[in-house]
Amino acid sequence: MMYEFKVADLAEEFGVHRNTIRNWINSGTLPAQEGPGKRYAMKISDYVTLCDKFGIIPKVGLDMAGQIEELQTINTAINGQPVIQLGEKYNTLFDDATWGDVCLTCGTCASACPIAGVNGLDPRKVVRMAVFGLEEELVESSWPWKCTMCGKCEEACPMNVEIVKLMRRLRSKRPRHLVPGPIHKGVSMCLERGNNLGIPKDDFAFLLADLGEELAQESCPGFKTPQAVRGTRLLVTVNSKEPFAEPDDMKWWWKIFYAANESWTISADNWEGVNWGLFSGDDEAMKTIVGRIVDNLQRLHCEALLLPE
Ligand code: SF4
Ligand code: SF4
Repeated sequence: MMYEFKVADLAEEFGVHRNTIRNWINSGTLPAQEGPGKRYAMKISDYVTLCDKFGIIPKVGLDMAGQIEELQTINTAINGQPVIQLGEKYNTLFDDATWGDVCLTCGTCASACPIAGVNGLDPRKVVRMAVFGLEEELVESSWPWKCTMCGKCEEACPMNVEIVKLMRRLRSKRPRHLVPGPIHKGVSMCLERGNNLGIPKDDFAFLLADLGEELAQESCPGFKTPQAVRGTRLLVTVNSKEPFAEPDDMKWWWKIFYAANESWTISADNWEGVNWGLFSGDDEAMKTIVGRIVDNLQRLHCEALLLPE
């Protein structure tokens, strides 16, 4: 048994844009065949499955002779799980399953997003899909990773929908081995060796001392890099990219400290200032890395933290 529909009608029924339906058809997500008069047809079982995915009770076909039995069979199959209305749908992305129901679909977030359109990213679409429970599709998509988490969408949203939190939660749900780029490797390295690039402690200490000597000769007489000095005003963290690839960049900061007669130090351990747990959505790792910096602050009795990143 087939269910015939027009793209516009199905879009309205599921609360999505017509292009979304067309994309689903083109990508095979919605297995439908094109017929005459711009009409499409899909199996009634596929229609009911789609309704189930969106938390919508099938509203057509019930009065069609011959189809009732099939629908009842399918409904029995899906009735193993509670039939739930949109808005009451179980949502693992937020504690409150109805968090996104306030979304007006106004698109203001998309207008504010600096990368809207990149790989099809549209924060409004992400919110709608999350509301409809399409979590798997979102987690597999590249959108949470294209998002810079700048928060402009959220700032612009008239309904205060927490879009950045949503993006982070989506990232956290990606299996770690499928996290794109080097982000997760950096997190693991930082947990293991105290910095994202695994720079050995002795090499780092040698580099700091060497750069300090250079600076003293170049422009800051008497300068010595303050490594793990207790009781300074500032504890300064470092982006491991600098000692790894651009060590001279650190000297610009040090020159300012020297000119300002600042009291500061760099810890010999766990000095990494870039917490990639934030970007990979790994809350536990993020907490551990932050905790280590707090430990350094307390151990060295510093008054304030400087995160140049
Ligand atoms: S700006 Fe807010 S209310 Fe408007 S579409 Fe985006 S999330 Fe929804
Ligand atoms: S937080 Fe992400 S989705 Fe929102 S405006 Fe920034 S890049 Fe776009």
